[in-house]
Amino acid sequence: MKKEKKVLFNRLDFLYLKHEDEYKQAALRALRSGWYIMGPELEAFEKEFARYVGCLHCVGVNSGLDALTLSLRALGIGEGDEVIVQANTYIATVLAITENRAKPIFVEPDEFHGIDANLIETAITPKTKAIMVVHLYGQPCDMEPITVISKRTGIPLIEDCAQSHGSTYKDKMTGAFGILGCFSFYPTKNLGAFGDAGAVVTDNPVFADKLRALRNYGSKIKYQNETTGVNSRLDEIQAALLRIRLGHLEEILAEREAIAQLYLAGINNPTVRLPKVRPEARHTWHQFVVQCNNRDALQTWLKEKGIQTQIHYPIPPHLSKAYSDLGYSRGSFPITEHLANTVLSLPLYCGMTSDEIEYVVDTVNRFLDR
Ligand SMILES: *Cc1c(COP(=O)(O)O)cnc(C)c1O
Repeated sequence: MKKEKKVLFNRLDFLYLKHEDEYKQAALRALRSGWYIMGPELEAFEKEFARYVGCLHCVGVNSGLDALTLSLRALGIGEGDEVIVQANTYIATVLAITENRAKPIFVEPDEFHGIDANLIETAITPKTKAIMVVHLYGQPCDMEPITVISKRTGIPLIEDCAQSHGSTYKDKMTGAFGILGCFSFYPTKNLGAFGDAGAVVTDNPVFADKLRALRNYGSKIKYQNETTGVNSRLDEIQAALLRIRLGHLEEILAEREAIAQLYLAGINNPTVRLPKVRPEARHTWHQFVVQCNNRDALQTWLKEKGIQTQIHYPIPPHLSKAYSDLGYSRGSFPITEHLANTVLSLPLYCGMTSDEIEYVVDTVNRFLDR
């Protein structure tokens, strides 16, 4: 009997095994050092990651959500303030706003899944304290017009780069456009740790200082507390492992790009819309997201053929139960809601075989929209 084919949505073990010795050495170095929090590995990683993005400072924190939450806090955003954010994002972006008791003001996305730069200005009010852009799926937002708006209005720009390590817009890295660039190193992200981790990058020494205090109980000097901070630190073992992974990031992104190109060239089912890449952008394919009006049928078809897929994201934040108090309903953001109903992410991970890629292409092409 013919062996049944199976393609998993994601696999993280290949990335580890490919450079196992390097990771083992780094972890052992951290373990044997006898220093586990806020030590030389974190300091070195912060320097290396800041240099990679092209910023002067990097502050490691415990997660991407903390990077976003503490960034808004460092800007002094709180009760009664408004933060502009795209409606089609992962809920963590919005949680960072509401955690600071500020109000999210949602804006619809453009055809590249980034905030629609043309709609930002109509969302600005005297209460607007920040514009938050999300480089969703690894594709940069339209940073030129967005930067112009931020400069002209004086409203600070914060970037959610949780999905866009290494993505560029006109050769400039995401994270280097705004006053603060927020990263997640959750294991599935393109630059993933082996547990929770995150960081904020900035050129501004005052905000870097504030964030260093905020992540450590609000203290820069032991037992002297300038503000009420939190415990959100990036530990030495994760920092040591991240240094190794950062050294291989370009190799990781090249492999993702190669798989994405095979999908773009091979998928030709007229009912399946392929992702469009902004001409100014380097897309890093954190997700390869197609659209299909009969998405659920496509997902079921692929599942029957042994191919796992995911939906990023089936419920937009404004319709989630957690935010029912914001008072939105179905139809509030039709473009975002249409995306939630039609997007589907195909498997894409380092170590995928050409057989698997071909099988996904072939199976998507054989889908009949009935
Ligand atoms: C993953 C993610 C986050 C949150 O990062 P964590 O490290 O999981 O807290 C925030 N925003 C976006 C867009 C993400 O994809």
